[in-house]
Amino acid sequence: MVAAMDLQLDRRALVSGGAALALSGCTTMPSGSPPRLASVGSSSATASCLARVNVDPSRVIRTVAGLRPYRPSGFVVRAEAFGDALLVHNYGHGGGGISLSWGSSRLATALGLPGHSGPVAVIGSGIMGLTTARLVQEAGYPVTIYTDTLPPGTTSNIAGGQIYPAGHFDDAMVTPQWRDQAAAAADYSRRRFQIMVGEDYGVRWLPTYDQTRRTGAIPPDLMFPGRARLAADQHPFPLDNVVRYETMYVETGRFMERLLRDIRIAGGRIEVRRFQSPYDVAALPERLVFNCTGLGAAALFGDTELVPVRGQLAVLIPQPEVDYAYALSAGYMFPRSDGILLGGTFERGEYTAEPQPQDIADIVESHRRLMAGWRCA
Ligand SMILES: Cc1cc2nc3c(=O)[nH]c(=O)nc-3n(C[C@H](O)[C@H](O)[C@H](O)COP(=O)(O)OP(=O)(O)OC[C@H]3O[C@@H](n4cnc5c(N)ncnc54)[C@H](O)[C@@H]3O)c2cc1C
Repeated sequence: MVAAMDLQLDRRALVSGGAALALSGCTTMPSGSPPRLASVGSSSATASCLARVNVDPSRVIRTVAGLRPYRPSGFVVRAEAFGDALLVHNYGHGGGGISLSWGSSRLATALGLPGHSGPVAVIGSGIMGLTTARLVQEAGYPVTIYTDTLPPGTTSNIAGGQIYPAGHFDDAMVTPQWRDQAAAAADYSRRRFQIMVGEDYGVRWLPTYDQTRRTGAIPPDLMFPGRARLAADQHPFPLDNVVRYETMYVETGRFMERLLRDIRIAGGRIEVRRFQSPYDVAALPERLVFNCTGLGAAALFGDTELVPVRGQLAVLIPQPEVDYAYALSAGYMFPRSDGILLGGTFERGEYTAEPQPQDIADIVESHRRLMAGWRCA
């Protein structure tokens, strides 16, 4: 996973190790900066054709903004005694929470469940809370989810849903032990999402176009099957150093709704309430509590390292014929049945989860320019 992050010249490289540019509070695409045009020619009859994304401000159907729960030293999966209960933390996954969800929640449940008997509490109903609750149920325990906001009101519902753990730590701040934990989380998640592919959960594989800084051979990576460098006539992007690989994409709204359905069918209870302090948590009847509160853990448990990294997206009218994704210097594009997602921004320290009109205009313009250089008809 780490090697892959070193390899890619895209949003992931910008928001994980060496994150100075993207995490400085700026958008990744300052107004007026065009996508990098390469020396591959402005048009080519032989360029491998892909359906062109119809980018125009008039095609924007909605705009969204969410706050990624970012911790420079990485996500927290840790158990602590809490009065006569056990509290297991599972939060702080930055821009990689969808990708890491099943695996991180598996690490958390492995810390909490052995030796426990009786009902279990999960705080939070984002992707971490829902995957934790499902794993608790699969292990045979009754579960209650306590949450301030249910889907579709969570940050997880905003996420683009690419399975590619990115932008969730600072290279200089993490330990080798934490890297092992993150790799284990990514690996289990990848396996788990694979067996959920299909219409029901809204998970699918897509070829993805990216750029690399590397020269020479590209090593194989289980996370990114089929990864290969492309010649100029093998893609329509007006860019060089393009690579292609396959990865999964999750239509997060649909996925969250289906998980909630599964939890309810299996007898899970849901209670909407906001916890103001650890005392509220300690008063819960359950003796095992999972803290899956994302950015909320900063106020609830005093984690001063947690900081929001705002992400804004413009969503265009769906185009079913667009059957690929890209993450390039112009930004990223994930096609979904609920719209074409154009990203995005990585704004550290921004606490307002509201789309900013100028940033949205910059995002759309950046993708429009990319499409203007499209090298096939
Ligand atoms: C624009 C954008 C694009 C993204 N794209 C991707 C992507 O392509 N791939 C990827 O892997 N990740 C992506 N992410 C990151 C991903 O969305 C997050 O890492 C993930 O959603 C975090 O999940 P969570 O469950 O920890 O937090 P949340 O979804 O924020 O859920 C937290 C839950 O805790 C509850 N809660 C909080 N405080 C309290 C309290 N005091 N009392 C009671 N309940 C409380 C909330 O109500 C909520 O239900 C993206 C994020 C954004 C913003």
